[in-house]
Amino acid sequence: MMLSAFPVTSDENYTIGKGFVWWDVTKAQEVDKLKSDLISMVSHEFKTPITSIKGSVETLLRVDAEWEEDFKREMLTGIHEDIDRIQELVNDWLDISRIDAKAIGLDREPVRPSVVVDNAIKKLPKHFASGVTIESTVEKSLPFIYGDRIRLAQVMLNLFTNAIRYNERSPQIKILASYDEKYVHISVADNGIGINSEHLDKVFDRFYCVENGKIRPSGSTGLGLAICKGIVEAHGGCIRAESSQGLGSVFTISIPQYNCDGDKYEET
Ligand code: ADP
Repeated sequence: MMLSAFPVTSDENYTIGKGFVWWDVTKAQEVDKLKSDLISMVSHEFKTPITSIKGSVETLLRVDAEWEEDFKREMLTGIHEDIDRIQELVNDWLDISRIDAKAIGLDREPVRPSVVVDNAIKKLPKHFASGVTIESTVEKSLPFIYGDRIRLAQVMLNLFTNAIRYNERSPQIKILASYDEKYVHISVADNGIGINSEHLDKVFDRFYCVENGKIRPSGSTGLGLAICKGIVEAHGGCIRAESSQGLGSVFTISIPQYNCDGDKYEET
């Protein structure tokens, strides 16, 4: 809140007192803070991949035709990974801006929950998921949800990525689902480092990163769960987390079922 004072004058223009107005500037300050946080995140996170791409390209430009094919391939693979990273940052930034503008633009249709889960599993990069056990008990017979299959797979993929990243053992992910009369609930359980209860509510806030000492991945921006929350809430659903430090975490999303006047949707 901001207090401003102004003189109160009589009809004859004599000052007869002072008036006060309280302005609620919290919202404007929050928006300004978000903008400056985004700008500093983007400039900071972009620096590393851009510097690395520049170095590799300069080396390749000096390359003589005789250079080893393997060496060139290694350089190009590195450039490709750096470009992926930049693309991820830009996408995160765009998603957060769309969520803020309530313009996430969902393409909703009746979707099988098991399809969302399977699509997300397929999208996990092979090198990242090697040594990871993923067990899904999401039945095909679950009620259809009313959702954007691409956006929901993005949410699941983000939860899988975190389950692998914030883990010091061989990651084990279990995906479970249940439903009530309105929602389908999909949970992603991991055997990772867990989250202390004091941080649990805040992990969905933008830029919130728990200081985990050993685990602070370079690609971490603190936007992933905020984006998941924005996407799930745009569906009229919710996301929540439960965790035991040192044992693991469970993230659950609840998405409204597709409902044709109470009839169950059947695929034709
Ligand atoms: P990022 O991973 O980019 O930092 P997120 O918004 O996805 O951002 O996560 C916020 C924070 O929550 C992470 O920095 C991490 O400390 C914590 N976190 C998220 N998922 C898990 C998980 N499955 N296990 C332990 N900690 C997690």
